[in-house]
Amino acid sequence: MGRTFIENVAQRLRIIPNLDRPNAEGASGGLKHFPEPEDWHDHVELDANEWPKMVEKRYSLVPTTCFNCESACGLLAYVDKDSGQVTKFEGNPHHPGSRGRNCAKGPATINQINDTERILHPMRRVGPRGEGGWEQISWDQALDEISSKIRESLKTGAKDRVVYHVGRPGHEGYTNRVLKAWGVDGHNSHTNICSAGARTGYALWHRHDRPSPDHANAKVILLTSSHLETGHYFNPHAQRILEGMMDGAKLIVIDPRLSNTAAMADHWLPTWPGSESALFLTWANMILERGLYDRGFVEKWVNWEEWLEADYPEEPREFERFIQLLMEEYSQYTPEFAASECRIPVEQVIEVGEIVANAGSRLATHVWRAAAIGNLGGWQVSRTLHLLNVLTGSVGTEGGTSPNSWSKFKPDLFDVPPDPDGWNELHFPPEYTMSHYEMSHILPHLVKDGRGEMDVYFTRVFNPVWTYPDGFSWIEMLQNEDSVGCHVALTPTWNETAFFADYVLPMGHASERHDVNSYATSSGKWVAFRQPVLREYARREGHEVEFTHEVNPGEVWEEDEFWNELSWRIDDGTMGIREHFMSPYREGERITIDEYYQYMFERVPGLPEAAEAEGTDPLGYMRKHGAFLIEEATYNKHEEEGWPTPSGKQEIYSNSMAEFGYPEHSIPHYRVMSHVHPDNLQGEDEYCLLPNFRLPQHIHSRSANAKWLAEIAHRNPLWVHPKDAAKLGVGEGDLLKVETEIGWFIDKVWVTEGIKPGIIGCSHHIGRWRRKQDSGNRYMTNEVEIEDLGEGRMRMRTVSGVRPWESDDPDTNRVWWRDGGVHQNITHAVQPDPISGAHCWLQKVRISRPVEGEKYGDVEVDTNKSFEYYKKWNEMAKEREVHPRGERRPLWMNRPLPPRKEHWFIRE
Ligand code: SF4
Repeated sequence: MGRTFIENVAQRLRIIPNLDRPNAEGASGGLKHFPEPEDWHDHVELDANEWPKMVEKRYSLVPTTCFNCESACGLLAYVDKDSGQVTKFEGNPHHPGSRGRNCAKGPATINQINDTERILHPMRRVGPRGEGGWEQISWDQALDEISSKIRESLKTGAKDRVVYHVGRPGHEGYTNRVLKAWGVDGHNSHTNICSAGARTGYALWHRHDRPSPDHANAKVILLTSSHLETGHYFNPHAQRILEGMMDGAKLIVIDPRLSNTAAMADHWLPTWPGSESALFLTWANMILERGLYDRGFVEKWVNWEEWLEADYPEEPREFERFIQLLMEEYSQYTPEFAASECRIPVEQVIEVGEIVANAGSRLATHVWRAAAIGNLGGWQVSRTLHLLNVLTGSVGTEGGTSPNSWSKFKPDLFDVPPDPDGWNELHFPPEYTMSHYEMSHILPHLVKDGRGEMDVYFTRVFNPVWTYPDGFSWIEMLQNEDSVGCHVALTPTWNETAFFADYVLPMGHASERHDVNSYATSSGKWVAFRQPVLREYARREGHEVEFTHEVNPGEVWEEDEFWNELSWRIDDGTMGIREHFMSPYREGERITIDEYYQYMFERVPGLPEAAEAEGTDPLGYMRKHGAFLIEEATYNKHEEEGWPTPSGKQEIYSNSMAEFGYPEHSIPHYRVMSHVHPDNLQGEDEYCLLPNFRLPQHIHSRSANAKWLAEIAHRNPLWVHPKDAAKLGVGEGDLLKVETEIGWFIDKVWVTEGIKPGIIGCSHHIGRWRRKQDSGNRYMTNEVEIEDLGEGRMRMRTVSGVRPWESDDPDTNRVWWRDGGVHQNITHAVQPDPISGAHCWLQKVRISRPVEGEKYGDVEVDTNKSFEYYKKWNEMAKEREVHPRGERRPLWMNRPLPPRKEHWFIRE
């Protein structure tokens, strides 16, 4: 192909290489394959910084996985053989989930490990908790002090006072095993601000509580909000959605906001938040009316007979009658009804409904977070969305939607301690009978309500003070030493929650730790190995390493080894804990981290054979490749395994819902009106605030130290539709005051047609802060002042925005942006859904112009009001609290760390 004029000029100016010249290895200048793993320890590249000289650099390429979101995409660390340091990260083409590709957050791992402000040593609080005084201590001292506090608590016999609260888990089963070894019901997670709504809807159908859409092979891809596709499984899903579209699949996106995904869609339906179930039921009705349901699948695999038995005992148990009755049940869901609830044109409801109804077995659907976590009754969204898969027979099919667990590898562990002998009511209060999972977002309120306290509280990659709603209530709880005896923050970087800890212990980023990962990012099943890169590099170079902190920066450690060491020290020889940390290979000796993974990988189906074929063992294979494909595709597993529900079928009728006090929800319906339904908004100045969307460059609390990501996205203005802007009399950059149920914040306006009128958008991934006395994350944090105004009223004001600073990295002095956004989450009231337990993120807000003295970034909250508001929502669960046969919750439902069976019953 001929060269363009611009290319010719650029070549002559040596801006681009001579395109006719052979490359450094003498080959003609075509594209080359990525080097094979056999060559990864001696990889040669030209040094880009030396251009136009051809200077070779030698690297060892070490596979690991990204830890910046759940997807665990493959990364390859380039270890410079001269310096022994990691110089960059690229994708690992041998990873079956990500196939060599990453989003912006993957390569930005290099920013995180080189962050000049990262925590390099164990720190212990000096002075009152939360005041910002710290001293460096040794690991030995930290381990001794923390282990003795845990020992003291365990020796009282309490099973619920030592707690591990996790944000991003990123591993399989490690800490659950540790907690079981300690004998505590002490697992808490972030699930109920994230996925509890969607999980409930899916679990009611088939106990599996997550979907796995086969986008690449679909005919129709139906996404309820883009959130998942810019957040969870972002890169692995995005690449498969595009593959599906290139093969002719239609992309339908339901989202009140024009997200990046919606912008690529064939059909964007900007529905009113919380109305999605009305739309899905209308489409279900269209499938039934047109006779487009998959009779074979529905008749065989759905518990329709149970529904007839429960609600129509007089009717014959005939499939045709079931279909007639279902059509009668759903006759109210007309296109006109959906159009009016969703506030979209009826023609659009019908046009897109036809596409869905005709998708057959290749309908890939997905909802995660988004509407399911936004609204009161949000769990109905996944319950009704999955109904479309059931009716079209696209459950478990190629191009359809499978349960996530079919594609997830569950490791065999070398030792399984007994289940905890207790039930933690701070995590699973009795009134939330159907919650998925722990009621973590109301933890401070339950504590304030006198329902429990904690002796030792671990937060791990978890930043509720900033991420959660009502952060001032978290600060209040964490500062009270009667509520939380000792707070240990395990984190790679400073965060707003760590400021209120007693110990801050530095844990590794992606390339500085061990974890095993397996996620349903495609239709296959894979396992990947997150390994500490410099440890593997040392091994390749012939140096054995005992503990990962020996090769990590400073004294940064990893949780796996930390838990082993801590557990060993807790046990004074009388507690039976150490027996769970013994080597499965060396009688009477303590397990090592290599043995832990060796044991696991030896049991991965097919891996020992693949390893042998390469002349290595399974651990060696994973160290070399970083990932292994266990199954190419996992379709139709129900044909061998059935469904793990009480009926053994897909449950259109949920007997558990009926028994636990919600008979009106026993089959999928649209019977809960969202708290932000237009009928619940009053007056001209009330709006729905849509705060729960991601920016693709950020994760919740661990991306603020990544300079490339911060440069791309660092502020969170209010998305305001031009019609609303005109109504409010504001333009681009003007300030608005957003009043929630418990406080308010001031933010700038961004006028855009990318948001539905009546809705104000604001991403909750921005607005990080630190006080004068705090450190860390200066690429993204405003310096703030927090003031106690008395009687529960708290105020936060921005003292200064982002500023450049001097450090060993010249880029810190080149920071050009000043606006660090606004911490809106802290002004949100907690709104626990009485059924799923999910926090309903969307907020009913009043919008006005700020008055004199109110500035950009100002935040005010009344924590007394927030407690009262929590009580109001908590009452909704209490009103319907029912425990058939004394069961706390349905016995078949998942719990992340299930205690012994007898504790699943309420004792009189
Ligand atoms: S999608 Fe997630 S795991 Fe993959 S590169 Fe991006 S942040 Fe990392």
